[in-house]
Amino acid sequence: KEVANKIAAGEVVERPASVVKELVENSIDAGSSKIEVKVKNGGKDLIQIIDNGVGLAEDEVKLAFQRHATSKISRANDLFTLRTLGFRGEALPSIAAVSKVEMISKTEDSLSGTRLQIVGGEVKARESCGCRKGTNIIVRDLFFNTPVRYKYLKQTSTEIGHISDIINRLSLAYPKISFSLMHNDRQIVETTGNGNLLDVIFNIYGRDVAKEMIEVDYQDNYMQLTGYISKPTITRSSRRHQSYFVNDRFIKSGLMSKAVKEAYHTLLTIDRYPIVVLKLKLNPVHVDVNIHPTKLQAKFSRGNVVYELVKDGVSKAIKESDL
Ligand code: ADP
Ligand code: MG
Repeated sequence: KEVANKIAAGEVVERPASVVKELVENSIDAGSSKIEVKVKNGGKDLIQIIDNGVGLAEDEVKLAFQRHATSKISRANDLFTLRTLGFRGEALPSIAAVSKVEMISKTEDSLSGTRLQIVGGEVKARESCGCRKGTNIIVRDLFFNTPVRYKYLKQTSTEIGHISDIINRLSLAYPKISFSLMHNDRQIVETTGNGNLLDVIFNIYGRDVAKEMIEVDYQDNYMQLTGYISKPTITRSSRRHQSYFVNDRFIKSGLMSKAVKEAYHTLLTIDRYPIVVLKLKLNPVHVDVNIHPTKLQAKFSRGNVVYELVKDGVSKAIKESDL
């Protein structure tokens, strides 16, 4: 079983950023309104997530680290309309198999919380403790027992870059949640959680970008497109600063970025890209979001309709803005 966990860990846990993603998504699923992430040395030494979500009861804490111990499938009607981010119950056991994990958690109604310590998949301690409602999880020494994987980790600046990408995307996806990311005690990301997407854009890209954004709000009876795009005067040299979301999940979408490019076609010089934060909402039966942790793609059942809507929505927003 330990071997199975280690192998599965290879799929879910590629690098520190994948640990951060899985843990923060759990915090989101737990209904948190405030999520703090602290990392040391690019996440290689320590990753800590503190949330104010529903927490886990004493018996749930240990169970959560057993394979396929998800509490989420039963809550969802079926897999296609799944609202939570996780549902396979693989993340925690996979992470615990290749690191030293400490989880402290408490639910609203219980008087005391629980502290669980796992090293390389083995439970070392479980005790009750005093703590506040929510979950505090610390992952130390990632890949300490899989030296080959450890060797493939990149330098600190690269790993923290991936982690801040994850937090930025989740902040943009969930403006109502307050996110904080600290690296070696330095604040990297901080959002208010006031629900305003433009404020999140301000937090990530700064004032000069935020004040030059054009709002997009467009829909037909099949789907809705909202978000912000930059004026053609504010561009970047790559698509890295284009974020696309489908039903609140970040995706990489060649289709959507092509539609954006088309809408801007006469306005941009070659090899320049606008900053984009666009959210598409549509009935989940019309989109298959590949939820494999490392693939971030969506397959639309009517791709051409999506393409036209994005193109028209962005074109209209540009036309109506005073350039
Ligand atoms: P999944 O998210 O696919 O259900 P995980 O391995 O990520 O699987 O988590 C296992 C279970 O542990 C979750 O279903 C949830 O019940 C519980 N859990 C994990 N993290 C948290 C958290 N931060 N707050 C509350 N419950 C959590
Ligand atoms: Mg999960």
